Amino acid sequence: MAELLTGKEVAAALNQRSKLILEELQANNITPKLAIVRVGEKENDLSYEKGILKRCDELGVLARQVVLPLEVKEEELLKAIEELNEDESVHGILLFRPLPKRMDEDRIVNAILPQKDVDGATDLSLAGVFSGKPMGFAPCTAQAAIEALDYYGYDLSGKNVAVVGRSMVVGKPLGMLLLGRHATVAMCHSRTQNLADITSQADIVVAAIGKPEILTASYFRKNQVVLDVGVSWSEKKGKLCGDVDFDEVSPLVKAITPVPRGIGAITTAVLMNHVVLSAKSTLK
Ligand code: NAP
Repeated sequence: MAELLTGKEVAAALNQRSKLILEELQANNITPKLAIVRVGEKENDLSYEKGILKRCDELGVLARQVVLPLEVKEEELLKAIEELNEDESVHGILLFRPLPKRMDEDRIVNAILPQKDVDGATDLSLAGVFSGKPMGFAPCTAQAAIEALDYYGYDLSGKNVAVVGRSMVVGKPLGMLLLGRHATVAMCHSRTQNLADITSQADIVVAAIGKPEILTASYFRKNQVVLDVGVSWSEKKGKLCGDVDFDEVSPLVKAITPVPRGIGAITTAVLMNHVVLSAKSTLK
């Protein structure tokens, strides 16, 4: 049976790092503050927000909720973001996406000051991830996957990693972060041919697709490390599942993250870490 790479321990270790920075900030009379900007009352946003508020409270990070009605004008949303950009007590801005379709999401996201872009959403943050230069922050979930591999002691240098999924939120930035750690990365997507050949040859497989249990045992072999980023509802099982068929794959591979309680459990700790790092960067 595979080693279970649960997220709780990784998040706790990351929180420990954040606490050390928080102590330094406290000594300088700075309390980090995260602004959460939400348009409407989408259930997913509300539950993510609830989790973030809990973590803020536990760590001693202040949270400011900016809630705008679904029918809010684009200019009003931009004004709210500009106000948070100018507010020196705010160190991080998290904007829930996707925004309503009528809005120019690209324009709104890029209105966030890169140094406050703790979610790694702006073009400049992503440029930092792609160029390897220290600009902004990496998207939290992509960073969470790296934190998991680091915590469980998997050296990435020279390893073959298959990343399945190429979104700007997870797959693509994660591919770049892995390259930055000297892994050899195969970026796979919905048009990849012979996907099972590629995944089964990799040392590490990261699934970020969003289709429940689509990767069955035939995509894997012995001794692999599997990170399952996907979270979706399985009608068949009547529960939340990852992209990997856990029951089939876990007896086969060396190590695997569960869903839930895997990568998702680390993502909020990464967000908190980004907020405290952003606050630290304001120290003279
Ligand atoms: P997304 O934007 O929909 O991207 C999905 C990617 O999967 C696309 O690149 C798509 O390829 C690829 N894909 C779709 N079907 C495929 C197939 N049959 N074979 C191979 N590749 C396929 O999704 P996302 O935002 O990256 O999220 C992916 C999953 O991660 C979702 O389940 C989401 O809920 C989860 N997630 C989890 C966290 C967390 O904290 N745990 C955070 C964010 C997202 P094309 O590009 O060719 O369309």
